[in-house]
Amino acid sequence: MLQTYINPSLSQWSLLTQRATDEDSIIENRVSTILERVRQGGDEALRAITTEIDGRCPESLQVSEAEFAEAVALVSNELKAAIRQATANISAFHRAQQIPTANVHTMPGVHCRRRMLPIRRVGLYIPGGSAPLFSTILMLALPAKIAGCEDIVLCTPCDRTSGKVNPVVLYTALQCGVHTIYKLGGAQAIAAMAYGTESIHRVYKIFGPGNRYVTKAKQIVSSQGTAIDMPAGPSEVMVMADETARPDFVAADFLSQAEHGPDSQSILVCNSPDLANQVETEITSQLAMLPRADIATRSLENSRIVVFDKVNTMIDFANEYAAEHLIIAMNDAWSIADRITAAGSIFVGHYSPESAGDYASGTNHTLPTMGLANAYSGIGLDSFMHAITYQELTQEGLNTLGNTIIQMAEAEGLDAHANAVKVRLASESTENSENSNSSFSILNSQLDKVRPNIAALKPYSTARDEYKGTIGIYLDANENPFENGYNRYPSTTLKAQVRNTIAEKKGIAPSRLFLGNGSDEAIDLLFRIFCRPGVDNAISIVPTYGMYSVCAAINDVEYREVMLGKDFSLPVDKLLDAADEQSKLLFVCSPNNPTANAYPREQLLTLVEQFPGIVVVDEAYIDFSSVPSMVELIDEYPNLIVLQTLSKAYGLAGLRMGLAMAHERIISIFEQVKYPYNIGTDTLMLALRLLETDITPQVQTLITERERVAEALSRLPYVEKVYPSDANFLLVKTEHARELYEHLIARELIVRDRSRTPGCEGTLRITIGTPEENDRLIAEMSAYEK
Ligand code: PMP
Repeated sequence: MLQTYINPSLSQWSLLTQRATDEDSIIENRVSTILERVRQGGDEALRAITTEIDGRCPESLQVSEAEFAEAVALVSNELKAAIRQATANISAFHRAQQIPTANVHTMPGVHCRRRMLPIRRVGLYIPGGSAPLFSTILMLALPAKIAGCEDIVLCTPCDRTSGKVNPVVLYTALQCGVHTIYKLGGAQAIAAMAYGTESIHRVYKIFGPGNRYVTKAKQIVSSQGTAIDMPAGPSEVMVMADETARPDFVAADFLSQAEHGPDSQSILVCNSPDLANQVETEITSQLAMLPRADIATRSLENSRIVVFDKVNTMIDFANEYAAEHLIIAMNDAWSIADRITAAGSIFVGHYSPESAGDYASGTNHTLPTMGLANAYSGIGLDSFMHAITYQELTQEGLNTLGNTIIQMAEAEGLDAHANAVKVRLASESTENSENSNSSFSILNSQLDKVRPNIAALKPYSTARDEYKGTIGIYLDANENPFENGYNRYPSTTLKAQVRNTIAEKKGIAPSRLFLGNGSDEAIDLLFRIFCRPGVDNAISIVPTYGMYSVCAAINDVEYREVMLGKDFSLPVDKLLDAADEQSKLLFVCSPNNPTANAYPREQLLTLVEQFPGIVVVDEAYIDFSSVPSMVELIDEYPNLIVLQTLSKAYGLAGLRMGLAMAHERIISIFEQVKYPYNIGTDTLMLALRLLETDITPQVQTLITERERVAEALSRLPYVEKVYPSDANFLLVKTEHARELYEHLIARELIVRDRSRTPGCEGTLRITIGTPEENDRLIAEMSAYEK
């Protein structure tokens, strides 16, 4: 039945790696006509085309709230649980794909930056047809949400007779936070998203699979200014198998691909004709039991088995084919996988079927086909983002680089380019470069906010501040001369080393970083630097981290509290309204302790831009969040101070080391006001060593565990709500907070009862522990009875 090739020669490979393709010039004409009609005629054309193709058109194209509610009720609890599990895994894997901002001073005075931003509006196409692909919604909508796309539009055809969208599709979309769904299919749906109509917003990038009309429409609009995910072809799998493979597993993988569509392709590459025969026998018997056997049978006509004696040749052939899905059912599968240079997604070992990646393991199932895996990647978080590069040259920077630019521009004959540099170099301006910097005037006005006594401070100068050399006999600091490892005050070089290491990790210049005895020290310093006791005030959200108000009280500074909005949203306007001339500090903890949510960057930026004083963003939990850090903005906004700590994600709470990151002028004031030698020798040495550990795996585990625990707790009958968390803890609302707290204490599980915190009535704050600790927590909480 299947064509089998034994040791085919190299000249046959191009034939054997060919995909089934279709002649599509007729489709092209029909699709172009549809696109043009929608572009010209908007909604009316959409309705007319849908009626022509389907025989009718739904009265309202947009799915209503009532339809969503009906759909949610129709989906079984088992399927809902499965979708939630897949959601947790896919979210965890995509959340880990954040691309950090590149921030490099390429030479003195030349600062370059590349920052990723979400694509604001995206469109998702989900085919209806024979099988509703709700899993594709998870694969597209979850990364879109994590990336921060503002508008997500989803188009999917509805059932022709009932006029309804498949309930699982609607449930899954809701689960992913997608509420704008249009009952539209085919090329006309792509046209609506690409051009926009009276009722449908145009989008900037379109994602999703579809039939040949949809694919052609995507191709055409992509040449007209709307981006698309990738060129799509029929789905395909290659299975590499050796004597360790089980023929029934291989046959099942083969058929799982074949049932996709008649043009799908499955290829088995193995190292013995015997195995090839066994797999073929298995395919025949499994095929007979498949409901979609007719489709699979047709697909098998495009499929084949290729046998090579040598594993090296199998690998070469796999790389030549560049499969969308590559299953490696072989001995030492990882070492083979490491030698694969082209594939969309690789399934390593005998227990990794393609179906795992298709649905729920966490990787994305939207992958390059037709050999495009040589150059394209599958969908990931970056597919929903685009980058902006920035550069800022100071006058000194342009002086240094100017001649290089002029030489190159003149050599290309582009004199106007050269001139743009020359006029600047020749300008007789006496302004120094810092004065001409627009952020400088903002900085000046912020520095005016420093308490007058601090501005006039003659800082304490330590012995080590005065003598910076490293050799000699130190008789300058009244230390004990007998060596015991600690007889000297902490070394300034060691501190500089730690500072450089952390600054590099954070992508900032060391002069932008202050190291404190915990970030708590930085919080206290902020009050001491900026707030005049009994005169000035500080503003903050409620509920939030308790040390801001305590430090305000210690420093005799009025502390103004503004309640968070519904579901703990940031009350941007109210915070700004609360400010007056004497408002020097605004604290926003994001992700916030104890509410666990992070605030969108735009909202924080509004505060930074409009608050009359210093905005402190406390990012103690930022490593667990999908919202990017504000650190990269400190140079641009001199009134922004970002706090972070080594106490959470870095697992170094016992060290006591916190970070304040801000404009270097602000940092230099921190350095003047802090206690001399505020960080001990042990802490510095340990920090240097422990910072070498990669924190990503632990952070990832905590995020995955967080989602798992949240999911388990939300199912308990007495739990009203588990708030979404961007941190390493969960805030759980229940009428039984106190009783539950006591119940857990009695079982040696200690959580925090936040019930007395305004805005957090009836809540427990639960830190995520190890998987075993979390299992205990879930078990003990499940055992609680009202
Ligand atoms: N900020 C927030 C929001 C916190 O929750 C905490 C401690 N729980 C801190 C700062 C203090 O961190 P550090 O250990 O660096 O003093």
